[in-house]
Amino acid sequence: MRIDLHAHSNASDGTDSPAELVAAAVAAGLDVVALTDHDTVAGHAEAAGAVRALPADSRLTVVPGAELSCAVDGISLHLLAYLFDPEEPEFARERDLVRTDRFRRGRAIVERCRELGAEISWEQVRRIAGAGSVGRPHIASALVEAGVVATVSDAFTADWLADGGRADVRKHETDPVTAVRLVRAAGGVPVFAHPGAVKRGRTVSDQVIADLAAAGLAGLEVDHTDHDEETRERLRGLAGELGLLVTGSSDYHGTRKTVRLGEHTTDPEVYGALLAQATGAKPIER
Ligand code: AMP
Ligand code: FE
Ligand code: ZN
Ligand code: FE
Repeated sequence: MRIDLHAHSNASDGTDSPAELVAAAVAAGLDVVALTDHDTVAGHAEAAGAVRALPADSRLTVVPGAELSCAVDGISLHLLAYLFDPEEPEFARERDLVRTDRFRRGRAIVERCRELGAEISWEQVRRIAGAGSVGRPHIASALVEAGVVATVSDAFTADWLADGGRADVRKHETDPVTAVRLVRAAGGVPVFAHPGAVKRGRTVSDQVIADLAAAGLAGLEVDHTDHDEETRERLRGLAGELGLLVTGSSDYHGTRKTVRLGEHTTDPEVYGALLAQATGAKPIER
């Protein structure tokens, strides 16, 4: 079983449509892929349709999920949520709040970029983002189009879009303890995404992770491209101490990042344990 529990479609900052992501997952030989767009479930219906239309001999399962933008003490972090009830109103309202504020903040970042001499526009960013939940990667793509930087990743520096960078503007982000409770109340299973991804900015303390565990966190995403070997070992130890599951996943973003689907995977037993905790939705099978 090859299980990849973190992937983005163009419902947020990935470049594949949900149906293309399903096809890419089959091509990559995955058995399970989770669709975890930033603060939205907008891709779920298309992904479900694509799975059900697969030929009889393929056996891909899609785990519907999302990746929630959170912050504590000014430090941003991401919470993966699997198999929650998308209709549960309190959690749905919080996702709406974050998505709506992404538009205000996107405009503000574009303004800053223009003041700093980058000839990009909000219309251009809207075109790049399409119907997707607008984020810095879309603005990074605009900066690439304008010839300001060479790659999306080059836009995430102090000069431009990195946390605290010259053109960075914060968005509304949920307190993570609140987010863990919202996910659980909607029948979902929360997993802390790339908790040690230092290249993305400051990371939270072990105490914060312990607080999240006490609030109902199910696991830590340990095997991730943004973690070096030492970080993985440390996080594995912490997960053991706190009784948390350990996952691995690609955080695939299509052509917007270089990571391949299935580059990191989750143990089938861990996947089984996550499924056993979920009551809000079912995995989508052919
Ligand atoms: P936002 O959700 O708009 O705050 O943008 C955060 C997203 O930007 C993350 O989910 C990543 O996809 C991307 N990102 C953050 N840091 C980096 C980085 N150093 N290099 C490339 N992409 C990044
Ligand atoms: Fe992203
Ligand atoms: Zn993330
Ligand atoms: Fe992600």
